[in-house]
Formats: sequence, C-alpha cells, structure tokens
Amino acid sequence: MRRGCFAIGEIKCDGCDRVIGYGERYLVMEEDEKQCLCIDCCLSKGYAAYWEQKGERVLTFFPPELESSENLNDNSLSEKQIDV
Ligand SMILES: [Zn+2]
Repeated sequence: MRRGCFAIGEIKCDGCDRVIGYGERYLVMEEDEKQCLCIDCCLSKGYAAYWEQKGERVLTFFPPELESSENLNDNSLSEKQIDV
C-alpha cells in the first residue's frame, strides 16, 4: 500500500538517497519491502502529481487501491498548508 506522509524527522529517500527534511511530504510504499520516496522521486515515477485547484497548486498522491474521490481528498494538501 502507499501512504502520503509528512516527515517528522530526517528520513532518507530510498529512490535518490536525498534526506527528506522536517515537514516535507513523502510517500511510504509498503509492498514487498518498505520504501520511502521523496516528492521528486514520486513525481518522476508517476506516483504523485500536481493539480491546479482554485488557483493553487496541490500535490496529490495516487494510492492504487484508493480511487474514490473521498480518499483522494484525504491525500491532497495544498502547498499553502505545508508552509504553516
Ligand atoms: Zn528521492
């Protein structure tokens, strides 16, 4: 399964070895093994995308097993909220 998370400590990205800093969003993939992927890796692999919504750019993860719009809303958060 895939989950969008916020880093609450320093986490290393399993895709590019970059350190994901405090408050950054990242994706946790738990399939055969657990992997943490930074936003850049998610975007390049197609696991996340930016959408324009009411003039704001919103990052959304796409968990394959959660395709209803209700769950999609739980996984999207505007960049404005991240800065708080
Ligand atoms: Zn990465």
